[in-house]
Amino acid sequence: MRRGTRGFATTIAANAWKLYLEDIAQDGAGPLSVALDTFLSHIVYIQSKTKGPEAPLHQVHDEFVELLKGMALHETVAENLNAAVQKSLKSSADERRERLASANRQPEQVVVLTRAFRRNPDVIAEVLLRADGTCEGCGQSAPFERSDGRPYLEVHHRRRLADGGDDSVENAMALCPNCHRERHYGINYVSDAPK
Ligand SMILES: [Zn+2]
Ligand SMILES: [Zn+2]
Repeated sequence: MRRGTRGFATTIAANAWKLYLEDIAQDGAGPLSVALDTFLSHIVYIQSKTKGPEAPLHQVHDEFVELLKGMALHETVAENLNAAVQKSLKSSADERRERLASANRQPEQVVVLTRAFRRNPDVIAEVLLRADGTCEGCGQSAPFERSDGRPYLEVHHRRRLADGGDDSVENAMALCPNCHRERHYGINYVSDAPK
């Protein structure tokens, strides 16, 4: 009996969340993403109280995550931009000027879903201490200091994490922004990956 009442209450709650999320979704992917985050914390809290699986709530959450995925772009914004720039460079100056004249000056906003690695701050700290303000690529001093006075260097992975590289002191190096960018975009750069 108690169980039946509880199940009923959960279904009511799930329906209420559904109405609320449908409403929020009208405002776009950004607000929906924030609301889903809140909703998930709420589900976790409820579960800690009831010790139940709260399936109806999860079902509603899953449903709106799917909706959000459809509303958002996947990881490709930067790549698309680079391809579009190459295309723009190839069109004539007149064509480009014409497009610029009628272009929207307030760019459209998109929400990007991406998968990132949670990097170990100790690896970053250790590599920065090892470099001691000197780029491990070109041997020059860091180009400027951060607002907190530390020399500005970026910690890069010799073998990319996405390619299975380790998030370790041995696989990382501290680089000035130029050396770092070259490693990601340069034509002449070969590899720092250990053979
Ligand atoms: Zn450098
Ligand atoms: Zn890098």
